[in-house]
Amino acid sequence: MTANLLPQELPRSAWQSALRGACNRCPSCGREHLFFKFLKPISRCGSCGQDWAHQQADDFPAYLAILVTGHVLAPLIIALVNHTDLPVWGLMALIVSLALVMMLAMLQPAKGAIIATQWWLGMHGFEKPPRPSEKPKSETD
Ligand SMILES: [Zn+2]
Repeated sequence: MTANLLPQELPRSAWQSALRGACNRCPSCGREHLFFKFLKPISRCGSCGQDWAHQQADDFPAYLAILVTGHVLAPLIIALVNHTDLPVWGLMALIVSLALVMMLAMLQPAKGAIIATQWWLGMHGFEKPPRPSEKPKSETD
């Protein structure tokens, strides 16, 4: 649980939580980095104490990056083939380069957003964080 965290520091919505994760910030407090390597999340936040070892993003970030890259590049590829005189090797070099750059740029934000969403929904061993409309347990007792 988030021991060193004021209730107003918690994200107000799943979107805010996912945005923090996508920006490489701790989804719980937003103060620390979520990743210590490119795709390796920290095991525990040094600021709020949230345990991130429960995350199980698995292959979903890669699926998401492939889905977005394919949908963005498909019309671009069609336009390039129909409206330019680039040779096949030129088209291939351009398309493969663009696809690699887009995939690498999207992997970490996608994984951060997915980890944040898992935490917000209380999936995979995460304890569901309190919602802004809920009062903390100590105030309700
Ligand atoms: Zn934190």
